[in-house]
Amino acid sequence: MSSSGFASQNGAGATYANGLSQNPVALYPSNQGYMTPPQPGYLNAMPAKAPTPPAPSCYNPSRQQPSPVAMSQHPLSLPSSPNHRPALVPPAHTPPLTNSFYQQHPQQPPRWPPPAVNHASPALISTPQQPYSTGTSTPLVFQNTMQSPAPLPPYSALNNTHMPAAPALNIVAPHTHHSFGKPPAALRGTPPPSGPPPPLVTHNDGPYSAQPGAMNRLMGTAYPSLQPAYQSVPTPQKPPHMQPAAQPYSTAAAPQYQQPTVSAAQLGPSLAALNLQSQMPEALRVVNLLQERSLLPPGAVTPPTPCLPQDLQRLNCSPEVFRCTLTSIPQTQTLLNKAKLPLGLLLHPFKDLSQLPVVTSSTIVRCRSCRTYINPFVSFLDQRRWKCNLCYRVNDVPEEFMYNPVSRSYGEPHKRPEVQNATIEFIAPSEYMLRPPQPAVYLFVLDVSHNAVETGYLDVVCQSLLDNLNSLPGDARTKIGFITFDSTIHFYNLQEGLSQPQMLIVSDIEDVFLPTPDSLLVNLSECKELVQDLLRSLPQMFSKTMETQSALGPALQGAFKLLSPTGGRVSVFQTQLPAVGAGALKPREEPSQRAAVKDVQHLSPATDFYKKLALDCSGQQIAVDLFLLSAQYCDLASLGCISRYSAGCVYYYPSYHNHHNPSQTERFQKDFKRYLTRKIGFEAVMRIRCTKGLSIHTFHGNFFVRSTDLLSLPNVNPDAGFAVQMSIEENLLDMQVVSFQAALLYTSSKGERRIRVHTLCLPVVSSLSDIFAGADVQAVTALLASMAVDRSVSASLSDARDALTNAAIDSLTSYRTSVLTIQQPGLLSPACLCLFPLYILALLKYKAFRTGTSARLDERVFAMCQLKYQPLAYLMLMVHPALYRVDNMTDEGALNINERTVPQPRVLQLTVEKLSGDGAFLMDHGTVLYLWIGRNCSPTFLTQVLGVQSYAAVPQNMKQLPELDTTESSRIRAFIDWLREQRPFYPILHIIKDESELKAEFMHNMTEDRTESALSYYEFLLHLQQQISK
Ligand SMILES: [Zn+2]
Repeated sequence: MSSSGFASQNGAGATYANGLSQNPVALYPSNQGYMTPPQPGYLNAMPAKAPTPPAPSCYNPSRQQPSPVAMSQHPLSLPSSPNHRPALVPPAHTPPLTNSFYQQHPQQPPRWPPPAVNHASPALISTPQQPYSTGTSTPLVFQNTMQSPAPLPPYSALNNTHMPAAPALNIVAPHTHHSFGKPPAALRGTPPPSGPPPPLVTHNDGPYSAQPGAMNRLMGTAYPSLQPAYQSVPTPQKPPHMQPAAQPYSTAAAPQYQQPTVSAAQLGPSLAALNLQSQMPEALRVVNLLQERSLLPPGAVTPPTPCLPQDLQRLNCSPEVFRCTLTSIPQTQTLLNKAKLPLGLLLHPFKDLSQLPVVTSSTIVRCRSCRTYINPFVSFLDQRRWKCNLCYRVNDVPEEFMYNPVSRSYGEPHKRPEVQNATIEFIAPSEYMLRPPQPAVYLFVLDVSHNAVETGYLDVVCQSLLDNLNSLPGDARTKIGFITFDSTIHFYNLQEGLSQPQMLIVSDIEDVFLPTPDSLLVNLSECKELVQDLLRSLPQMFSKTMETQSALGPALQGAFKLLSPTGGRVSVFQTQLPAVGAGALKPREEPSQRAAVKDVQHLSPATDFYKKLALDCSGQQIAVDLFLLSAQYCDLASLGCISRYSAGCVYYYPSYHNHHNPSQTERFQKDFKRYLTRKIGFEAVMRIRCTKGLSIHTFHGNFFVRSTDLLSLPNVNPDAGFAVQMSIEENLLDMQVVSFQAALLYTSSKGERRIRVHTLCLPVVSSLSDIFAGADVQAVTALLASMAVDRSVSASLSDARDALTNAAIDSLTSYRTSVLTIQQPGLLSPACLCLFPLYILALLKYKAFRTGTSARLDERVFAMCQLKYQPLAYLMLMVHPALYRVDNMTDEGALNINERTVPQPRVLQLTVEKLSGDGAFLMDHGTVLYLWIGRNCSPTFLTQVLGVQSYAAVPQNMKQLPELDTTESSRIRAFIDWLREQRPFYPILHIIKDESELKAEFMHNMTEDRTESALSYYEFLLHLQQQISK
């Protein structure tokens, strides 16, 4: 590595490295062995402010239970005003505890069981509903009083004409307010150095293999141009809170994906004028949530743009990769506490990127004190010295860095790609390795008990593997192996030279050993034929099995032994509760408790076997991914630990069966293909650094916390998200900006040691209103969701639910009392947080946290895993899906991508009010798309899009739109394709009618509607208002 080159490749190359403080032998300090990430000290001594769903007894017992398809009410059945509601019944008792994420303060919590309503199926809607009609037959409370954000009329007028008075609520005895608590004093100190200091390089002629052409191609679109722009084009400094800077990541290649930031100009001329006059940013526009019903933007919700000078913001990290809950960082912890908003980061560090600058250099320039990688937000004191933006140490610029490989000129260190790109990847030199980078190693561990074989999953796994064997990421060194298990463990000798695979059965599951340790993991390219033989014969080998037991624990022990020397990836397929050998589990779910009104038991693991084994795996650089395919309870709360602590991932297919449940099979096939072929990093660690004064105290995601800021990730994949909670340890009084840097060191599947670095820069502010103005409502919601999962496990589900509600109450209270200068009636929110209550309600109704509705324990636990693991964008769609009307799409506002016109229908509120029987509606739920066809859907749509003559002729379980040569057909297919292209997995489409089983799922997502066990959005708002106005 005497010369360093600026390589333009992304993913290719041949240098090895391994690193940082990586030491597979000594991973855990003894005092830290099986520690989970430090949890904030949650205070548990306060009153529940959250609305409680009604106990069954609150309902009129004579009422019929609504059918599952009637989870959402017919709009006509809503009470037309709260006055019609039955008297509210206080609960028999109120627990003495409540919950908030921040700190305690006594409150008067009401218990507010909503009255039962008659849940008619929306399928009955036969007349078209005007989305915003103010017809008298629909409830007044839901009519749009303020659909467009025009200046508010005097409150009294609106209130008298459209708004119901807040209903009288029965208030029960006060209890204390209980919170997620203040974070503990952080564990942070100066981060330990994580690598040797960069060697100082003396003059080195021509050290770069510069490829400016390639560079431009690589970086020209997604990242700001490196050409003279940085210095020669002065950009005016933007006054704080004026219009957000232009989206820095709009690219020439993909401008079509940009959703315009909502700017004052879009809000109507009068309001824009008002904003300009008052200098109030749009983010702080006061919104009375009880009056403004239509708060969803027409397209995707865009993250706020930090209020930075444009030249800094232009270089900032993409919000798709790195986001902060508060894009303006409070100066002090006191100020943060006052805002009652969580401070934290959301990361998608290994996201597939179409544009990634890659640098090869023998010297990776880092701060000598805190080891921060040089980045766009450091300052150059002169050509020879740079000041670290995290610890402020002044460092020398190495000689080698004086040369700019992009412009091929000397003396421009500030124009180096490292200083021009907030996301960059380095090919690491040898000092970043402690052992030679290991090959890609894949081990498949397959349940072959009777139950497993009966589902037919083995056929899918083996066929997918056969189809994708050549697409597994890797190189000539890639190794592969197989274990199958029922009550015994079967290994497969695939050594080159054998005429066929040899099965080796180990029946002593108490002490699993490797029968022929050297021939069980084989070189894929050398032994491909044997591997293919095995994959072709496996499904038949066990087709007659009568073995019903599952020794999962011993099989995993065998996998651990097999992979210990190299590390790698274990993919486990399990179809039932493991009942024999180590790690055996007992059924814990009581089906009668599935619809628990309050708390759900058994969310925490029954045994620490899986966690301990996962930590052993982590120590040997092994990650375990779990595919759970089962109709029965499998205790995912226990099994999931094997993946959670080894940085694996969990997939769950309830009621999987190749023949009985074809839609699950299709989803599994698509997921598994993505899983097999997506990028993978091995032997990874991720360190997150932040500017002195800030500290990290809790991580969320799948990993092991090796030290205060270092996560151990035996595998990393492009679909994994992480979240981090932070606190402000020292006041940031003298600082204009702070920075956060995530550095992911990994071994690529081609055996290169690489470091991907993301740096985010944010302004520091001193006023509460500035903090609110910068709040990122989706990031806040996602972080709270992760915190609530922890709370559900460490305390209880009801605690977590209370804390979520209190998060909305507390922040809006703080806004009302500390930011608003002119008090007005109503439930007031700054525009930037106007979706907060809706998202909180969506979380309360999400499978992870909902109560009163039947949810299988494993499905609930899986939903919780998803909240902690999914990157923000996908998580938000799972919690709050996007609904579109698609039978009347036009080309107005359509995008034009590669000569394809992609219509952009408006996102609708999640309420049956928006559905109408004569339409067709598409719901984007992240991993699933539902296309609901109304009973009176227009014949044109049926023939031109579905290719059928009548509603009755729409087949059940239809999953694809026929490729018809009509405008309507191309439009909707273009739209669905476009939705699919924006995510790495393949969401399957369900076309559903009223009779479809999946209709209940579709209707469950109507967050704004009341169900028999949960409040409607409007009721929830009234509840919040009640609490806030106390
Ligand atoms: Zn530093």
